[in-house]
Amino acid sequence: MTRYEPECIFCKIAAGHIPARLIYKNDHVAAFHDLNPVAPVHALIIPLEHIRSLSDLTEDDAGIAAEILLAARVVAEKTGVLESGYRVVFNNGDDALQSVGHIHAHVIGGKTMGWPPF
Ligand code: C5P
Repeated sequence: MTRYEPECIFCKIAAGHIPARLIYKNDHVAAFHDLNPVAPVHALIIPLEHIRSLSDLTEDDAGIAAEILLAARVVAEKTGVLESGYRVVFNNGDDALQSVGHIHAHVIGGKTMGWPPF
C-alpha cells in the first residue's frame, strides 16, 4: 500500500484495523456492507490506498479506477442483484454530500429506485 492516512476511517477498514462486514477483497480494493444502508443492498467499494475523491484521480490511478468498477460487478453478483439491477454512485464533494474523504463507490440495489435521485 503506497498511500495511507492514519485518520481516515476507510484506510483503517482497508487495513483491517477496524471491522467491516466484508463482501470482497483483492490486492487493490475492498467491498463491505454500508453501516447505514439506504436499500436492501448497499455496499461500498474502496481502494486499499488513500485517494480522496473522484476529482483527485490521475492517469496514474487508471488501474485502481478500473478495479473499483470491476468490483461493482462482483459485489452485485455476491449480493444477488446482478440480474435485478443495481446503481453505482460516487458522491463527490460537498454538493454531492461526500462525507468520507476516501473515494468509494456505493453499490445500491434490491429495490426499484427512482430517477432523478434528488
Ligand atoms: O458518499 P458518502 O461519503 O456520503 O458515503 C459514506 C458512506 O460511508 C455512508 O453511506 C456511511 O453510512 C458509510 N460508512 C460506513 N462505515 C463507516 C463510516 C461510514 O459504512 N465506518
